[in-house]
Amino acid sequence: MKKSFYIDYPQEHYEGQAHRYRCVFCKQETTKINGLLEGHLPTCDYRIALEKAGFECNANKPRPSLDTTDEED
Ligand SMILES: [Zn+2]
Repeated sequence: MKKSFYIDYPQEHYEGQAHRYRCVFCKQETTKINGLLEGHLPTCDYRIALEKAGFECNANKPRPSLDTTDEED
């Protein structure tokens, strides 16, 4: 299972900063999370719950174990 964006996590806003929000669980800023599951810390309750439910991190593609040129950046 995979979602394109993970934006249904509980958020709270920074005190005194009306336009900045962060994840309630791991305290990562929403602009840093950027809708990605791996934007949350590995210890984040939201991330753990989704990973347990079978959702994948978009960026953590399994690397092909072939002798191809490494083009990942
Ligand atoms: Zn989080």
